[in-house]
Amino acid sequence: MRRIPGWPRRVGRRGPRTRKEGALVRLEIHQIKLPLRRVFAISRSSITEQESVIVELHDQGKIGLGEAAKSSYYGQDAESIAGALERIKPELAKHDFTTPEALWDFAAPLLEDNYFALSALDQAAHDLYGKLNSTSVYQRNGLSWRNVPQSSVTISIGPLEEVLSEVESYADWPILKVKLGTPNDLEIVTALRQNTDAILRVDANCAWTVEETIRNSHALAELGVEFIEQPLPYDAPERSKRTVFEESALPIIADESCQREHHVRECDGLFHGINIKLCKCGGLTPAYRMLREASMRGLKTMVGCMIESDVAISAAAQLVPLLDFADLDGAFLLASQPADGVKLERGTFSRPEGYGCGVTWDASLV
Ligand SMILES: [Mg+2]
Repeated sequence: MRRIPGWPRRVGRRGPRTRKEGALVRLEIHQIKLPLRRVFAISRSSITEQESVIVELHDQGKIGLGEAAKSSYYGQDAESIAGALERIKPELAKHDFTTPEALWDFAAPLLEDNYFALSALDQAAHDLYGKLNSTSVYQRNGLSWRNVPQSSVTISIGPLEEVLSEVESYADWPILKVKLGTPNDLEIVTALRQNTDAILRVDANCAWTVEETIRNSHALAELGVEFIEQPLPYDAPERSKRTVFEESALPIIADESCQREHHVRECDGLFHGINIKLCKCGGLTPAYRMLREASMRGLKTMVGCMIESDVAISAAAQLVPLLDFADLDGAFLLASQPADGVKLERGTFSRPEGYGCGVTWDASLV
């Protein structure tokens, strides 16, 4: 595992900027709809556009950006995310912003029931702090833009001919993550393997049983698949997870089973790695802590995303120098978006430009 260097470095290169007395942070909340390039389907749902919420945190003439998108699985939509943030505005107005970590400690108890909202707020706090102190978020956390893994692009569930045509359109991507949980999972991966030399990863989104997982793991290992993400339901019995952990021919990565910080410890011994998403854990502040703990426990690390704009992707990209695997294609799956930040070109991340998370947006485009 990679060492986490200089952990944590709390201030920017020029030291923390002093706030003007009496100036309080102001939060603006925008509900938006993001059109997709094509229908996106997984084992439990399909969509053609994505609801999302972009927040602006204003302080001393600078604006920090954060985002959280709808997820039916986690019971959040734009209304619920925006509503939770709206609800805490009066409390937030009393908070004297010093660091993102202090803001997270202040806001987490207020948003205990809505970590998607907390994540958007925390991303905006990191972005704002970077802009106020002339540093990027990853540099503030002691990282350099080296050893950055490439990202997978996601192939959604569909009839085999559609899956193959989607794969053809990603011919120049080095890593494909294939959504499974269909009656013909092995047929799909076998056909894909015949049509691409790309690294293949699979995500069953909780759709398999213990027996299916173990059986599929051997067949998928033969097909050169790299790992299996979340084969069992998140609440499968511990003994089922342990059996899969011990008998799978491929590493098993927890997604739905690893949501918040305490799940890292719970996944140790039941999974080979974890997939962190900012909206699940409540933002960059806990994500950095989770990566440190996973690394200490010898768990493989991955960061994933929802389908969301460059705002959330650029925030998550601040973590990638620490990762074994990246799955941050959310913005790439959009037909258009109002933000501009870290991009993926054939799986390779552009380096974040500017301060904070390296993202801008134009509210007039939504
Ligand atoms: Mg997943």
